[in-house]
Amino acid sequence: MVAPLLLVVALVTVLAPPQALAQTAPTVGPAVAGQPTSAEPIVGMAVDRATGGYWEVSADGGVFAFDAPFDGSTGNLVLDRPIVGMAATPDGGGYWLVASDGGVFAFGDAAFYGSMGGKPLDHPIVGMAEDPGTGGYWLVGADGGVFSFDAPFEGSVGDLVLNREVVGMAAGADGGGYWMVGADGGLYALGDVGFEGSVHVLALAGLTVALDPGHDGGNAGAPGVIDQPIDGGGFTEPCDTVGTSTADGYSEHAFNFDVATRAAALLEAEGATVVLTRTSDTGVGPCVDVRAAIGNDAHAAAAVSIHADGGPPSGRGFTVITPEPVVSSISDNTAIVGPSDQLGSDLVSAFGADTGEPPSDYYGQNGLIARNDLGGLNLSTVPKVLIECANMKNPTDAALTESPTWRQQAAQGISDGITAFVVAAERI
Ligand code: ZN
Repeated sequence: MVAPLLLVVALVTVLAPPQALAQTAPTVGPAVAGQPTSAEPIVGMAVDRATGGYWEVSADGGVFAFDAPFDGSTGNLVLDRPIVGMAATPDGGGYWLVASDGGVFAFGDAAFYGSMGGKPLDHPIVGMAEDPGTGGYWLVGADGGVFSFDAPFEGSVGDLVLNREVVGMAAGADGGGYWMVGADGGLYALGDVGFEGSVHVLALAGLTVALDPGHDGGNAGAPGVIDQPIDGGGFTEPCDTVGTSTADGYSEHAFNFDVATRAAALLEAEGATVVLTRTSDTGVGPCVDVRAAIGNDAHAAAAVSIHADGGPPSGRGFTVITPEPVVSSISDNTAIVGPSDQLGSDLVSAFGADTGEPPSDYYGQNGLIARNDLGGLNLSTVPKVLIECANMKNPTDAALTESPTWRQQAAQGISDGITAFVVAAERI
């Protein structure tokens, strides 16, 4: 009986540090009787300095008051754009709601001092803050541009290139300045407010990447499945193929899967969510149209099909295949051709640097070739390329593909190329 008691004491000691977290946890939980219900997501909140309570606001402008007076909402209006934030007057007698188009809605004793509604905006409004000094307010755009209404303009970062969009702002206690915070954790202190630190956000946080290891280990044994014709975007092609192998019998499907798995781990370490088109090397398929759909459905910021080539034994090197514009009755990839070209050139740079592999001397030019006859690219609605990492029929390249060390370098090159593209695409 003594031993369990000691165990309990030890556990309590170990668990003591996170006590603050445990105290806040019960405020988040399942619905309880009498709790207000919102069908729309909550997008912002403000404090009532008179009562110490607060309001929450939903995307449709519904306002939920907790130990604070309800002064009205836009929940019964049809809004052109969703509500993205709110701010309260210094005395707590009212509040404003702001929509992504810059429209401002004033309630209670909050005065309307103007808005950006109906005016052209390069970037959506993402938040607002009240000026405790004047009683006016500021609006902030995703690019860090600030719009002042009966409040002093203390500066903005609208003319800087930001790694990620601004997502919110808050005012200093006297209204002589304000902070803005970016999705990358960037914290911008303007006017008389101080910089007290900020969060480091992983480069790919919140972003999804699709990796498509070509072929599959069971394809050779399932011709009835993989030979089935599919619509590749205005023409028919086989569901999938078997792929190539080295003279030693090391298969392309195994190479592709190993490199994809390694690249996925590298991308996840940068914060990405990685979607793989297959999660084992023993299955059949999926068909190339399904592989494209997996990246599309994931709304991937970038998708890469990973292959190795079976070219002439005398040639070596890697090639990145980019999509040409193809419009068919089931697809239109024109919107992703430009971004895919950028992804392709980023991949060529990173893959060459990380592996030392030269661009192919027998296929494409400078490591690139554009094609219109690959369903996996024609059917993509997200930026996508296909890389032939090496030529498995060339003795030099074959030895590299059989080396785990080189496969890790190949994965690093793919991860770095994708990261360079995605980070640049998020800049604002
Ligand atoms: Zn292949």
